[in-house]
Amino acid sequence: MVKLIEGHVRAFIQVQNGCDHRCTFCIIPYGRGNSRSVPMGAVVDQARKLAESGYREIVLTGVDATSYGGDLPGTPTLGLLAKTLLKQVPDILRLRLSSIDSIEADSHLMDLIADEPRFMPHLHLSLQHGDDMILKRMKRRHSRADALAFIVDVRRLRLETSFGADMIAGFPTETEEMFANAMGLAEEANIAHLHVFPYSPREGTPAARMPQLDRALVKERAARLRTTGLQLHQAHLDSMIGTQQSLLVENNGLAHTENFTLVAVPGLTPRYRAG
Ligand code: SF4
Repeated sequence: MVKLIEGHVRAFIQVQNGCDHRCTFCIIPYGRGNSRSVPMGAVVDQARKLAESGYREIVLTGVDATSYGGDLPGTPTLGLLAKTLLKQVPDILRLRLSSIDSIEADSHLMDLIADEPRFMPHLHLSLQHGDDMILKRMKRRHSRADALAFIVDVRRLRLETSFGADMIAGFPTETEEMFANAMGLAEEANIAHLHVFPYSPREGTPAARMPQLDRALVKERAARLRTTGLQLHQAHLDSMIGTQQSLLVENNGLAHTENFTLVAVPGLTPRYRAG
């Protein structure tokens, strides 16, 4: 039987919850506990059901998605999960990851970036900062150089990959020079989708006990970083002009390119054949 399904395009599957890390600013591990993963078979089954309902794009989400599988028998990785899903559910045309910690990226993930056209060329990175001293005080596991090397590697494998990133402005002890390193990293890495968070102390976390910056300064730095983010986004949009892109149309007259650039497509609605 052939049926047309309208309105369902992208679905999210949470594959992991909790976190084994203890970044000094983050309250999540206190509330959600250590990392727990959904078995691969259950994720694939869910993807299959979504595909049968007409969904064509899946986003795998998790609190610390790149730690996926560490608690499962055989310790599968996020990359292996993504590979298996794409192989076993051919009707899923696009697969994305919500956010990744680049230092935890596994070799299967790099294979997908290099060779799998259904794995979308857009990665959202949990960068948080661009200054090594601040990254250390945040207890992140990557350095500025690690982050840049990962981005260079990915672009070498698939040039059209666009990057998003989360960054915190005004972390305790941040000097103007350290802040400039954060801005500089966003620019050097050419982050097209920058999500900026003004640092806000969370009770009970180590960072809340560090010397705090004046709130007005935190807000001012966040605003400056956001302005840089908007400029980078505009440059990204400009770079797409005149290019040919494959679009998946969503319910509301909008679509996304493979590298997650939003495109207005007034009058078009999703229509997919399933069954
Ligand atoms: S910021 Fe992410 S990796 Fe760090 S503790 Fe929070 S959830 Fe875990």
